[in-house]
Amino acid sequence: MIKVEHLTKQYGDRLAVNDISFEVQKGEIVGFLGPNGAGKSTTMNILTGYLSSTSGRAMVDGLDILEHPLAVKKKIGFLPETPPLYLEMTVREYLYFIYDLKKCTLNRKAHIEEICRVVGIESTLDRMIRNLSKGYRQRVGIAGAIVGNPEVIIFDEPTNGLDPKQIIDIRNLIRELGKERTIILSTHILSEVKAVCDRILIINEGKIVADEKTENIERALHGNRRLIIRIDGPAASVLPALKRVNGVTYAQASQKHSDGSSTFIVESRDDVDIRKPIFYMLAQNSWPILAMEYAGSNLEELFISVVDEADASDKKQA
Ligand code: ADP
Ligand code: MG
Repeated sequence: MIKVEHLTKQYGDRLAVNDISFEVQKGEIVGFLGPNGAGKSTTMNILTGYLSSTSGRAMVDGLDILEHPLAVKKKIGFLPETPPLYLEMTVREYLYFIYDLKKCTLNRKAHIEEICRVVGIESTLDRMIRNLSKGYRQRVGIAGAIVGNPEVIIFDEPTNGLDPKQIIDIRNLIRELGKERTIILSTHILSEVKAVCDRILIINEGKIVADEKTENIERALHGNRRLIIRIDGPAASVLPALKRVNGVTYAQASQKHSDGSSTFIVESRDDVDIRKPIFYMLAQNSWPILAMEYAGSNLEELFISVVDEADASDKKQA
């Protein structure tokens, strides 16, 4: 549905987007995850035709954005980082205005009412946008984005500045919309992509540093699994014994406790379960296990490590 090839955007001598390529299949919900300044908004603005690229190209449904700007804009609904709402209009006036701008041909009243039902703003139709809460304003922005039933919707930081309840509502709404549409959203919040997206593109300093299905991303990037084990035994003997267990790729003592036990971090290849061999080895040595759990189910840590690795490899190249 969306195909981006070697997209690059330079602002003066600042490289905001650096040779990005990716595809999004019809019906996918894809998240752009990256810190502020990573190039997410720039990429989205190019995809929606609001900004031109320095080089590379972007296609939507087989159409090049530069060659067919109007046809492409008709296929895309866009919620920019700060939606351009007209505060003096009522919700209905605003959506009718967007409807006219988009030269929509569906039955106007029925279409707008349908959208307002989907987005959950029927009760605000005749209220002034000025008087709506931030959450409702965001919904009005989303309603504007889906006027004309576009096949693709692009949301730039859709939950930015909302309270936790509003965030959950907007996430549910995006998932609902994603059942029938192709969606790209951007966020700098990890739990957001995890909660909403089928696939995650991690963007850092204008580059894609990871592109994975949501359920695979931790394993794919880490390549091994990490156990946290608290063991009642002499660390100086336990650590080398842990390292000798078949499948263990790394072990370190992370903390010594006042009762004489120590916590260890043990990593293994991801194709072996080392919990049993570790148990038997420790039992043989009469070193009781006080606690054992998998770490690494933490995208936050992963994200930091991805960004750090990308930084490090850039510095190596430089
Ligand atoms: P994100 O949305 O991921 O936070 P942006 O795409 O907004 O990142 O910005 C990427 C980089 O490009 C940043 O370093 C930002 O400062 C720079 N940038 C964005 N817009 C402009 C602009 N209009 N002029 C110059 N630099 C810009
Ligand atoms: Mg942005």
